[in-house]
This record gives sequence, structure tokens and C-alpha cells, in this order.
Amino acid sequence: MKNLYFIGIGLIGGSLAKDIKEHNPDVVIHGISRKDTTLEQALSLGLIDKKATLDDIQHADLVVVSIPVDATVKLLPTILDKVSDNGLVIDAGSTKQDICKAVENHPKRRNFLAAHPIAGTEHSGPGAAINGLFKGKTNIICEVEKTAFKLQEKALDIFKALGMRIRYMNPQAHDKHIAYVSHLSHISSFMLGKTVIEKERNERDIFDMAGSGFASTVRLAKSSPEMWTPIFKQNKTNVIETLEEYINNLSQFKELLKEDNFEAIFDEMKNTNHIKDILKGIS
Ligand code: NAP
Repeated sequence: MKNLYFIGIGLIGGSLAKDIKEHNPDVVIHGISRKDTTLEQALSLGLIDKKATLDDIQHADLVVVSIPVDATVKLLPTILDKVSDNGLVIDAGSTKQDICKAVENHPKRRNFLAAHPIAGTEHSGPGAAINGLFKGKTNIICEVEKTAFKLQEKALDIFKALGMRIRYMNPQAHDKHIAYVSHLSHISSFMLGKTVIEKERNERDIFDMAGSGFASTVRLAKSSPEMWTPIFKQNKTNVIETLEEYINNLSQFKELLKEDNFEAIFDEMKNTNHIKDILKGIS
């Protein structure tokens, strides 16, 4: 692979570009974005070698799409229209059902691989791109059987070089599971931040009294609304289901407190400590 085109060069696209370039210094990384200022920033940070436009992707060996999921749904059919017969298109979107559906009947569906690298930070834009973001992380691939075998192999080589583990899932299962482990965590963090900001009007007090517990629990509330709103929109049904279960648990906890049932509260926390074993090894 020689000519690589990155549509979206923020946290995910920029980090992928950095790692791929490090492993393959001869590739030429072309960047495509909405704003020219973003492309200029990506150039000055060395994330891309050249600026490009959508019309150039006919020359692409690989196209990586890392833009908000609503933009991916809109743009993906056009990207497939333009890519050559041997070009591979990979997306990194955090939802998979709407994205896979958008191209299910596209004549070049076999050029597309639907992926979701489970790696990230709360930062966004080209300045957030870092090396090694994907090392040891899981990459969920959906509907792999719909991608041409030769292109699957190329994609797997790239993911292997980045140190990623692969899990295969259908888009429905992906969106259901990810609603619990990722989407709910973000809502929970945003609403924790909101609750504290509304109550503690004095920002200096929040800063002075925030321990590392609050800071780490509220970290995800720094994430980009531009990226997260379309995710919640596309995964609305699953997200509502997770919220109902979460709100039930919060209400139950409140009732136990009201009843002075500290034995039950202790047990709730003790049972949930099992998360330590489940997450052992995740840094
Ligand atoms: P990001 O840092 O905000 O970068 C997204 C970039 O997309 C922006 O720099 C923006 O550039 C560009 N963009 C937006 N709309 C566009 C359009 N219509 N055409 C071309 N470029 C456009 O976001 P990210 O965290 O890298 O997320 C990218 C994708 O990865 C999303 O689909 C997200 O769901 C997925 N993902 C995110 C994470 C995470 O933790 N952040 C993890 C796994 C997967 P401009 O300044 O030019 O608008």
C-alpha cells in the first residue's frame, strides 16, 4: 500500500496515521477534512504529507474514514463510488448498524470494512493524535464476510502491525454491547459533571476539592459533543435501554439510603467490586 487517504484527521484518524507512518515510512498520507485550518494543523504536526480532496481517492490504496458517525453515513456511499476496484475503505465509527446499512446494497460493498477500534481519549482534533493509541486494544470488525477476502487480509495486516486484537460481531450486537460499556459511561460522566457544576457554582471550589476520584469519573465529560450527539442519535434505542437500567440502579441505591439499609448498600458495593477482576490488565 502506497497511497493512503485519511478522511478526518482528529484523535482517531491522526493517531492511526501516525502509527501507520511509523511502521511504513514510505507510504504517502493524504488528508481530507472539512476545514482547511484542520488540514494545515495536521500538516504542521506531520500527521499528513499532503492535503487532498474527495476526488483524489480514485488513487487510494487505502481510505480511512474517521469523522462523526452521521457524516460517515452520508459520505460513505460517495467514497465507495469514487474508490478504485482495488481500494480498501475502513471506517472507525463508534456505531455500526446505520453505517453498514448505508452501503449494504452498494456495488462496491466488498471494498468496505466496518471497524471500531476500542481506543480513545477525551481529546479531539489533530492535536489529540498520539502514537501507540491502539496497541493492545480491541478492534471490532462487523460483517467481515461482506469484504473482499484480499482486502480483509490487507486490513488485518495493518491492525496486526498496530498491535490490535480482533473481535468479530454483527452490527446489531456491536451497537447493543457498546451502548453499555461506552455510550452509557459517557452519559453518566456528562451528567455527573452537570450535577456538580449546577450545584457547586464556585468553580474554584470544584477545582480545590475535586479529588482524583471525581477527576477520573468525570474525565469523559470533556469529550466532543460534535462526535457524541450523532452516536446517541444512531444508537438511541440501545442507549435508552441502558439508561433505564442505570436509572433503576441509582433509584434503588437512593431507596436503600433512605431506609438506612447499609447492609444492602455494603453488599451492592461488594458485589460490584468484581469489576476489578473483569478489568484486570486494562491500563
Ligand atoms: P475528532 O478528533 O473530533 O476528529 C474528527 C475529525 O473529523 C475532525 O477533525 C473534523 O475536522 C473532521 N470532520 C468532521 N466532519 C467531517 C466531514 N463531514 N468531512 C470530513 N471531515 C470531517 O473525532 P475522533 O475522536 O477522531 O472520532 C472520529 C471517529 O472515530 C468517530 O466516528 C468516532 O465515533 C470514532 N471513534 C472515536 C473514539 C474516541 O474515543 N474518540 C474511539 C473509537 C472510535 P474539521 O475540523 O475539518 O471539521
